[in-house]
Amino acid sequence: MNTGPHDSPSESHAPQQAQAPGLNEQGRENPPAPQANVAAPVAPDDVFHEVGSFNELGLRNSVLKGLEASGFERPTRIQAMLIPRIMAGKDVIGQAKTGTGKTAAFGLPLLNNCAKDVPCQALILVPTRELAMQVARELNELGQATPIRAVAVIGGERINQQLQALKSGPQIIVSTPGRLMDMVERGHISLANVKYAVLDEVDRMLDIGFREDIKRILGMCPQPPARQTIFVSATLPSDVERLIQKHSKDPEKIVAVTAGALTTKMVRQHYIPVQPWDKRRLLAHLLTHEEPALTVVFCRMKRTVDELTKYLNEKKIDAHAMHGDMFQNKRNKIIERLHKGDLSVLVASDLASRGLDVDGITHVINYDMPEDPEIYVHRIGRTARIGREGVAWSFVTPEQGDLLTQVETLINMEIPKLDYPDFQPSPPPGGKAVFVAPNQQNPAREAAVPFNRYAATVAPPVPAQQKAIDTTKFPGGIVPSKLPPKRMWGKVKTSQSLKESLPPETKASTDNPPTVPPAN
Ligand code: ADP
Repeated sequence: MNTGPHDSPSESHAPQQAQAPGLNEQGRENPPAPQANVAAPVAPDDVFHEVGSFNELGLRNSVLKGLEASGFERPTRIQAMLIPRIMAGKDVIGQAKTGTGKTAAFGLPLLNNCAKDVPCQALILVPTRELAMQVARELNELGQATPIRAVAVIGGERINQQLQALKSGPQIIVSTPGRLMDMVERGHISLANVKYAVLDEVDRMLDIGFREDIKRILGMCPQPPARQTIFVSATLPSDVERLIQKHSKDPEKIVAVTAGALTTKMVRQHYIPVQPWDKRRLLAHLLTHEEPALTVVFCRMKRTVDELTKYLNEKKIDAHAMHGDMFQNKRNKIIERLHKGDLSVLVASDLASRGLDVDGITHVINYDMPEDPEIYVHRIGRTARIGREGVAWSFVTPEQGDLLTQVETLINMEIPKLDYPDFQPSPPPGGKAVFVAPNQQNPAREAAVPFNRYAATVAPPVPAQQKAIDTTKFPGGIVPSKLPPKRMWGKVKTSQSLKESLPPETKASTDNPPTVPPAN
């Protein structure tokens, strides 16, 4: 029964920026003279709304009490923009930088609008179990003075424990799509009451991995206008916006991405040129020389996460691994230790790139550049949360200049280069190739025409030996483009051709070799 509203209304070995003009190892122009050293102050970010207060947003007293208890003094920009619109019943797409309070932006209106006796009235879908637990925790904290409760329904947890939690009739369910489908199909959760559906990290939720599940889940919920749908993310590619239209009713797009940049000014971003074989050593060097308080190192593959963690441990660096192949209780323990400030280095897959809100992550290191530039935005967003400062370093190997440029195009800013003069690069394994240390000047590059990465791509030069072909050596001047069909006119014997040339009786005996009598 819907009973309506629930109450009335130092000194360090700091890296130096490259100062040499000309080109760097990625064939990119070096950044202008150093502006931001790691120790230099940065401008405060414009995360918070200039004048607003939570009192002006029309939230109930019980919700305001929870905000006060949680230490939220004034709304962030995205909160000031989204809260009134969601409370008015509108479908919205909210885009704001990472760490600017999107959870509370959609969560506070739910705590405000949910009726106290209706279970599963609000459904929040997120891409990872960790994020589901975090969102449920934050809503329960903000809603502590209300009768509204959120429960995380996630895989890897004991089903009985989750059924027990569901018995209390939580008004808000936070879940990952796979687990939710499973619980609905087993009849443990009904979506008939869903009045509010939220897709957090919507670009991930509507990508190919989750799209079908989301379609089915939203198909089982009441349809608009009986259901209000809310979409949020820091990154919103245009194809995702088109998909959103299919699941909502005239959604209003609210963008709180200020100053045209997708990443917050509070993260000092740099890239470090490194050869692939030097990456592990460079990482160990940075972690031992910089001694960052809490660092998350992102790798592309789970195997790299494990191998790198092992390597760092061998170097006596207290690093811990986290990726999707680990048992949930091990993942939970790592998150718990992160929150307690018990860890110093987390080596993680992109499982940890979205949403994870841990106080005090000072450094994010992209050990592997992500293939998808949007992942970069989410990864570095693990630091500099809610107006704090942070550092993000990206290891870029010589062939990854393009990936870096894609990231820069997306975030609309140039990422400066950082050199580590006290790191000694090593020669390539095998040691045959001519090695040019990234920190040493390269006369060939200096003499080269500056590379303009915004110019159209030029066709690669034709290799010298192709240019010098002497056509008089070929009959009629026709230069063959491939090898003759049979090398050596068939004179080189293969095992098959040898077998075929044998007389039939010998051939049969090679097909069935004589059995050797067993030795006694
Ligand atoms: P996002 O989803 O945008 O990455 P989160 O919702 O995880 O960001 O919020 C980041 C952190 O900021 C969280 O720890 C959250 O509790 C805190 N926070 C959110 N809004 C406020 C606010 N108005 N005042 C103070 N802290 C806030």
